[in-house]
Amino acid sequence: MKKLVYLDNAATTPLLTEVLDEMMPYFKDSFANPMTYMQSSLGLDAFKALEKARNHAASLINAKPDNILFTGSGTESDNMAIKGVAFKKGKGHIITSKFEHHAVLHTVQALQRHGFSFTFVDIDKSGFVDINQIEDAIRDDTILISIMHANNEIGTIQPIEEISRLAHKNGIFFHTDAVQSCAHIDVDVEKIECDFLSISAHKFNGPKGVGFLYIKDKDSVYPLIDGGAQEWGLRAATHNMPGIVGLGKACEIAQNNLGFQKEKLINLRDYFLNTLLQNIDGINVNGSMHNRLPQNLNIRLDGINNDALLLGMNRYGIIAAGGSACAATDTVPSHVLIALGLTPEEASSSVRFSFGIENTQEEIEYALDIIISLVKKLRLLRG
Ligand code: PLP
Repeated sequence: MKKLVYLDNAATTPLLTEVLDEMMPYFKDSFANPMTYMQSSLGLDAFKALEKARNHAASLINAKPDNILFTGSGTESDNMAIKGVAFKKGKGHIITSKFEHHAVLHTVQALQRHGFSFTFVDIDKSGFVDINQIEDAIRDDTILISIMHANNEIGTIQPIEEISRLAHKNGIFFHTDAVQSCAHIDVDVEKIECDFLSISAHKFNGPKGVGFLYIKDKDSVYPLIDGGAQEWGLRAATHNMPGIVGLGKACEIAQNNLGFQKEKLINLRDYFLNTLLQNIDGINVNGSMHNRLPQNLNIRLDGINNDALLLGMNRYGIIAAGGSACAATDTVPSHVLIALGLTPEEASSSVRFSFGIENTQEEIEYALDIIISLVKKLRLLRG
């Protein structure tokens, strides 16, 4: 079988075997609806499994289980927080940044059709939002500030605790998209003091199509999905039990392994970067290497078209990314790299490598050999 070296863990991660094992019974034998817990022991068992997963999710971010609302994805969690507040308030102004994930950017833009206004603040050349710009953007009618914890393309970690305090000083809700940071660095809602925080299980070796939203005060939002009484009536629909159980297990494993994983990922990533720098000229890192997710590396390779390099790497089973997975079909350059101040040409010579807990040193050596030789060949061909 062709060797696979998967270095695109920011797009999604492989499901851990322990997580799959935990999910399996809920596809068949333990099929009960947890909302029937008053009527049957089968229903009660399902309900207990649901609440066990909620406890693991809460514990991972230092929240109370009552503040965890299961959703169908990180995208849904972002929509729930932003539209939920907007529809509850009825009108107002929202502040976010230019390099948010589309799940936030497009949600805020969509609210313009319903009469809401917004400000998108800049990021600096190192990949951080400027808190002064956020402060200047605050208006009397600002209802929400939404700034991501860590960026999905360049991995820079934002000063969300300060931004949260600024929001609250002005009586404004604060939401953070922690889809990329959660389970990779410390995410603690008590420290952040956020009102909302979005998570997605498939970014930390859990299943796809399931996430959760931390909500400090459940009265602060209107539901987006009306129907049954599930999730306190805020998110109707029969629970995705295999998904939620898998999410809970992934949270439990992540919490147990956090410190160890972080160190391993930093070592792999830094070794990878240093070896590239020693062997190839014309490499620049996009975004600061300080205050950056341990698993993220985004580099610009002078004179290289990222599509050509990625296709070449794919022939050897090495997978990385030219931009975010959700924008992979776009022909326009990455909005994150453009917001960082790169030209469209520089953006199209950039590659994101995102490392995972299952990557080994041997895989990294193999990938480095291939990548170094491909870059040299592509540059020779270019003349
Ligand atoms: N927010 C960020 C920062 C992401 O990286 C992603 C996925 O790439 C999402 C939100 C969307 O999450 P999901 O794929 O679960 O909808």
